[in-house]
Amino acid sequence: MIDYNQFLATQAVELKPSGIRRFFDVASKMENVISLGVGEPDFVTPWAIRDMAIASIEDGFTSYTANPGLLELREEIANYMERKYHLSYQPENQIIVTIGASQALDTAFRSLLNPGEEVLIIEPAFVSYAALVTMAGGKPIPVSTWAENGFKVTAEQIEKAITARTKAILLCSPNNPTGAFLNKQDLVAIAEVVKKHNLIVVSDEIYAELTYDEDYDSIATLPGMYERTIVINGFSKAFAMTGWRLGYVCAPQPIIEVMLKIHQYTTMCAPHMLQHGAVEALRNGADQVEEMRKSYRRRRNYIVEALNQIGLNCHLPGGAFYVFPSIQNTGLTSEQFAEQLLMKERVAVVPGNAFGESGEGYIRCSYATSLQQLQEAIRRIEKFLQSLGASPKVCEHQVSL
Ligand code: PMP
Repeated sequence: MIDYNQFLATQAVELKPSGIRRFFDVASKMENVISLGVGEPDFVTPWAIRDMAIASIEDGFTSYTANPGLLELREEIANYMERKYHLSYQPENQIIVTIGASQALDTAFRSLLNPGEEVLIIEPAFVSYAALVTMAGGKPIPVSTWAENGFKVTAEQIEKAITARTKAILLCSPNNPTGAFLNKQDLVAIAEVVKKHNLIVVSDEIYAELTYDEDYDSIATLPGMYERTIVINGFSKAFAMTGWRLGYVCAPQPIIEVMLKIHQYTTMCAPHMLQHGAVEALRNGADQVEEMRKSYRRRRNYIVEALNQIGLNCHLPGGAFYVFPSIQNTGLTSEQFAEQLLMKERVAVVPGNAFGESGEGYIRCSYATSLQQLQEAIRRIEKFLQSLGASPKVCEHQVSL
């Protein structure tokens, strides 16, 4: 018997597998499961975008593109950033088209981090962050947030976590898994700390189009922040294009120059024909994004109210398509709750501790599924709560919608 660990990198072996996938894999082998587990839109990519990619294949666009992506797409990304935020990025040397926001994040950390340098990660956090920082040789430093203030991180919390080794702060607003939204006022305070301590912000804006109460503001728009922000975005969530694996990064030219070297060697370029679809998305997709946003908003309002009514305390998230209710009054851990709910009532949710320690006592439910499914999921969760002996009661923290 070969011990393969002798061949494998210790750092890679020691990575924790994603807590999301584990539940998703179990649930996918069971029948009659309602999955609130995986974070992706329930819409199919709008037809005009698909059509453009099909035409691209038919027209024979099967070659590599330029390393940073089709110039035409980089121009559309620049137009989008200008239109949306009045931020000016040069298509020629400040934008790279990547394989999803995932590759943009990976390349950003590999470009920024010397061994042992620290990145502050606001927890609960998207499962990839800590792993990507670790694989880039850096050290992820969690900054915990709490339900009491809607899981918003404050400038004071960030400042407390800064050490001489801190290089960057990773911000994700609206947040996965909590849906927490940082408004302009929150960002202004954070920006002051960033500038005071001479840090870089990696701003994951993948859910920026999906806000429900206030418009999104990129931290890069604040005075002195354009120069020290790496904006990461992509097509997965806003345009329902998860399977296309297309994202992008916009940043100051010296940062992009280094990122492009890594991108060149690891990836060459994003798929040619799919980039034509992305051009169409940015040029003409805004109405469809708005339709999907309205639909998510309706579902958010429904599920937050319903969860509170059946006795699971849930704050109103400002964006993305997740709710993060507390299950603390059941006496179960997040893992026990998720496991028993799946086995007994066939509803798949993700235990909150998959997103970091401060997620313990919560579960993540994605509401990117039909209203009908959500209603049935709520019925099943209520039945599960009753089976635990918890008398369903309306939570004290009622949320106004
Ligand atoms: N950032 C966050 C916060 C996410 O939730 C996700 C996907 N779940 C990603 C990045 C990765 O997105 P992409 O599909 O563009 O790689």
